[in-house]
Amino acid sequence: MFLVVHAPVGALMGMWVGQPLAAFALGVASHALLDIIPHGDEHLTDHLPPAARVRRIFLYGSIDAVCMAVVLVAVLGSWGMDVPTIGILAGISGGVLPDILQGVSELFPGNRALRTYQRVHHFFHCEIIRYESSFLVGMVTQCAMLAVALWGITAFGGTYAY
Ligand SMILES: [Zn+2]
Repeated sequence: MFLVVHAPVGALMGMWVGQPLAAFALGVASHALLDIIPHGDEHLTDHLPPAARVRRIFLYGSIDAVCMAVVLVAVLGSWGMDVPTIGILAGISGGVLPDILQGVSELFPGNRALRTYQRVHHFFHCEIIRYESSFLVGMVTQCAMLAVALWGITAFGGTYAY
C-alpha cells in the first residue's frame, strides 16, 4: 500500500498513544495490517528488468512521498499543529519504515538480512490473503482506506491530548 495511506494512519497511532516507542510499534503494526488488504500495487514493477525495476520503484516512491507530504501537512493543519510531536513522528516513522526498508532492499539484492525482510514483507502482502486485486480495484481500495484514515483523523484528532 502506498505511503500516502500508511503515513496518516501512523500519525493517527502517534497522536492516539503519544508515547514514542508505542507509537512506532503501532505504526509498524498498522503497516502490516494495511498491507494484508489486497491493494493492487504488489506487482507493478515485476515485469521490468532489475535496473529498470529499481528506477521505476524510486519514481513511484518519489511521487508517493510528495503525496504523503501534502496529506501529512493537511493532517497536522487539521490538528492545529505546525510541528508534529515526537509521538506523531514516531507513528509516521513506524508506518512508513517497512516500505522504505523494501526500497533499500531493492538497492542491495545480495544482502541476506534484507532478502529475509523482503520475504516477511511479501508474506503480509500476498500470503495471508491469497487474492490479488487489479490495479484499478486496488487504487479504489487504497482511496477508501485513505478516506477512512482521514475520517479517523478528523473524528478523533481532537480527542486525545498531545
Ligand atoms: Zn508495505
